Amino acid sequence: MNEDQRVVLITGASRGIGRAIALQLAGSETVLLLNHYDPEPAMAEQTLRDVEAKGARGKICFFSVADFQEVQSQIDGLQKEWGRIDVLINNAGITKDSLLMRMKEEDWDRVMGINLKGVFNCTQAVIRSMIRNKSGKIVNIASVSGVMGNAGQANYAASKAGIIGFTKSVAKEVAARGIQVNAIAPGFIETEMTAVLPEQVRQEFLRLIPMGRSGQPEEVAELAAFLVSKASDYITGQVIHISGGMYM
Ligand code: NAP
Repeated sequence: MNEDQRVVLITGASRGIGRAIALQLAGSETVLLLNHYDPEPAMAEQTLRDVEAKGARGKICFFSVADFQEVQSQIDGLQKEWGRIDVLINNAGITKDSLLMRMKEEDWDRVMGINLKGVFNCTQAVIRSMIRNKSGKIVNIASVSGVMGNAGQANYAASKAGIIGFTKSVAKEVAARGIQVNAIAPGFIETEMTAVLPEQVRQEFLRLIPMGRSGQPEEVAELAAFLVSKASDYITGQVIHISGGMYM
């Protein structure tokens, strides 16, 4: 591998925001490790073909971010194979929405396991080698829900608020080692996650957005690209909102 190439691991890269980030970062200077967890690999394979068409080298990595042992062994293998991981984008996430009164324990556990523990699992797996290399960029995809709260999303909002606390804590731990850790808090972005919402809920969201429109995954990807670029070297521990003004 070319020493100038950057090795980027993106969790949940098969579709939506993760796929958009992969495409945004794709180029001859990048190796893209594309994680996903759907046993049907068609979407991840499509993302791989699309980043390769833009000149990047890539690989699909099938594992659940929620599985501590699996994450350690897979990321260990990737670091041995590619020499290092320079950039980690913790993007994988799910929703299991319901009012607290009706929320099932399994829906709480599943959302926390993927959204929050997944971020812990992947970050811990890369941090030692980033510290050794004295460089690294980590971007965690949180949500406006983790800051404002959202009725029907107690599990999701708690997981995203957890990501924000995690981001700031780890940023402080590794700041002096040349590693920056930041979070992005998207508002309402057009992906499969939001496509399932009833029209009335969509309209309620749109009313909360001063800019009067939803966001596109590519707009989040532009921000992620900035946060993993040299231009952001003096930024760490921040939560950058991208929500058309939904949160100010
Ligand atoms: P999406 O279209 O539903 O994509 C979710 C991605 O996560 C998929 O690639 C999926 O891959 C992956 N994933 C799910 N469970 C996984 C697991 N256990 N292990 C590894 N990967 C897993 O969602 P999105 O809208 O792009 O959301 C991406 C991130 O942005 C999430 O963290 C979400 O909470 C956050 N976010 C989204 C919005 C929004 O409005 N869309 C707003 C704020 C924050 P497989 O299908 O292959 O499993």
